[in-house]
Amino acid sequence: MSRGTGRQQAVRRMPAHLPGVSALLHAVRCAAEKHRDQRRKGATASPYINHPIAVAEQLAAAGFGDDTELLMAAVLHDVLEDTDTSEAELAADFGPRVAGIVREVSDDKSLPRRERRALVVRHIAQCSRSARLVKLSDLIANVHDVIHQPPHWNDEQKQDYLDWGEAVVRELRGTHPGLEQRFAALLAEARAGVKAGKQQRAKDAD
Ligand code: ZN
Repeated sequence: MSRGTGRQQAVRRMPAHLPGVSALLHAVRCAAEKHRDQRRKGATASPYINHPIAVAEQLAAAGFGDDTELLMAAVLHDVLEDTDTSEAELAADFGPRVAGIVREVSDDKSLPRRERRALVVRHIAQCSRSARLVKLSDLIANVHDVIHQPPHWNDEQKQDYLDWGEAVVRELRGTHPGLEQRFAALLAEARAGVKAGKQQRAKDAD
C-alpha cells in the first residue's frame, strides 16, 4: 500500500484516514456511479463498470496491487472519455496523479475515431509508465471481450480494432513483458476466431 505525505495530499477531498483499500473502493463506487447508465457493447451487455474493474484487477494480478493510485486510475480510466466528468473534478477527488493518468489514456472524443486511434499510436510511447500500463491492461480486456463477449462488430471492425491494438502495444513495448505476452496470446486467439468465423460463413454460403 502506498503511504506518505504525497498520498495524503492526493486524496485531500476524501477523509484523511482513507488509505489504500478504502481509497480504491471509493474510486470504484464513484466510477460505478458515473457509468451507471452504460453497458458494454456485446451480446451480454454487461454493466460498463465490469470493464474498468477488470482492467484494475489485471494490474493488481500483474504485481501492482500495492500501487493504489494506479488501480484507482484503472478503475476511473474511461470516465473522462465516456461520462461528463472533468479532469479538475478527478484531480480534486482523487489527486493529481490519478487525474493525470486518466487524462493520458483518454482520447479527444471530438475527433473522428480513425484520427483518435492514430493519435494513440503516435503518443503512447511518450506517456508515463502508469498510463502505458493502464492502456495495455485496457487493450487486453477489450481483446478478451472481442473473443468472449463479442461486440456487434463485423469482421472488418474486429480486424481494425485488433490491428490498432497491436500497433499500440508495439509502441509501448518493454512496459511490462508479462502483460505484453498476455496481449499477444489473446491477439492470436482473436485473429484465429475472426478467421474461423469468416471461413465458416464462406462454407455456409456455398
Ligand atoms: Zn477501457
